[in-house]
Amino acid sequence: MKVLVLNSGSSSIKFQLINVETELVLAKGLIERVGFEDSIFNYQAPPQPKSKQILPVKDYREGIDLITNALTDSERGVISDMAEIQAVGHRIVHGGEDFSDSVLITDEVIGVVERNIELAPLHNPPNLLGIKAAREVLPEVPMVGVFDTAFHQSIPEKAYVYPIPYSYYEEKRIRRFGFHGTSHHYVALKAAEYVKKPVEDLKIITLHLGNGCSITAIDRGKSVDTSLGYGTMCGMPMGTRAGDIDPAIVLYMMEKERMEPKEIQQLIYKESGMLGISGISSDMREVEDKAIAGHAKASLALDIYAHYAKKFIGAYAAVMGGVDIIVFTAGVGENSPIIRRMICENLEFLGAGIDAAANEIRGEFRDISSPETRVKTLVVPTNEELMIAKDTHRIVSELNGK
Ligand code: ADP
Repeated sequence: MKVLVLNSGSSSIKFQLINVETELVLAKGLIERVGFEDSIFNYQAPPQPKSKQILPVKDYREGIDLITNALTDSERGVISDMAEIQAVGHRIVHGGEDFSDSVLITDEVIGVVERNIELAPLHNPPNLLGIKAAREVLPEVPMVGVFDTAFHQSIPEKAYVYPIPYSYYEEKRIRRFGFHGTSHHYVALKAAEYVKKPVEDLKIITLHLGNGCSITAIDRGKSVDTSLGYGTMCGMPMGTRAGDIDPAIVLYMMEKERMEPKEIQQLIYKESGMLGISGISSDMREVEDKAIAGHAKASLALDIYAHYAKKFIGAYAAVMGGVDIIVFTAGVGENSPIIRRMICENLEFLGAGIDAAANEIRGEFRDISSPETRVKTLVVPTNEELMIAKDTHRIVSELNGK
């Protein structure tokens, strides 16, 4: 089955056309600056070289038209007819408590996603625009929504209800939702495949460390706790986000510094994390380079990052009563031997530890465990698009009764 995977952001549309059976990406690309006169269309149908065009793309409808035209183009296209697109998988950020799995998109589903806009005001609206535009361009094609939050719907009440008056949960739906679910799920399945055991027999801790970071405890295939919560500003310190800080600090900013909510949001969302501590950059590569060159605050930023990650590993091992596999993924997790080494130092008491030589890799699957350890530590490149394509294939096949 050929599945078109769409990820519609606030001013961009990322896409991949994937052959699910072979797991091959037939074509992929990105439209940036949707809504502008000088939108950028990046397109690649491997093994052809990448192309880049500047042209006006007025809205999501024009964006999807551009994508389907490129895919069917006689020269750079990879399919001869739009009918070869057998299903479309849409990434949707927030499914609230309504979706614990991917779902066939219907008018009713769109209504529920609209209702969840209040939970993800920046993400769900463009996701919906992408869905509506795709339905206009490909009206006959079944479409599936794959939610970032769905995988975490298995988290038990004790881990998702915050210890504040219960009415906040009951009346305002304030609870831990968790994000990056598609990535955590994908890398956990890959890890289980590698150790040749069913995921249902394993306790796995997955560290998705990108610009946004989250760590998840996956007990027998189900997410049982995760470090992102109601929003995306908690848990691990990230590129520019603070992660877990004492709410007394926010009160201090409000009372003593008379800061407005928007200013506080800017500070803890855009000016904190690696950038805030190091004063240099949110990009881990730059922070690492400066730390190696002797910059004290860059070193401190790395220390804090690794310290938090280690705390989550310890906490989640305790929550699950042990751990069999630790997985590193996303930009930092896949590419930073330094961060992996720092996080895995002194984990021998857990039965974990990494091999220095094996750890010297970037962006590829590798077992980096030291040979004597019981716990496997793996680097698993994430592939949210493939997971979306597979889920889409599963849901559409169920629909067709195959
Ligand atoms: P997003 O969360 O936006 O999807 P990614 O998962 O692509 O982001 O992660 C991006 C981050 O990965 C960059 O900001 C950078 O800090 C980090 N990164 C990428 N390559 C390296 C590298 N070689 N060494 C250390 N960090 C890296």
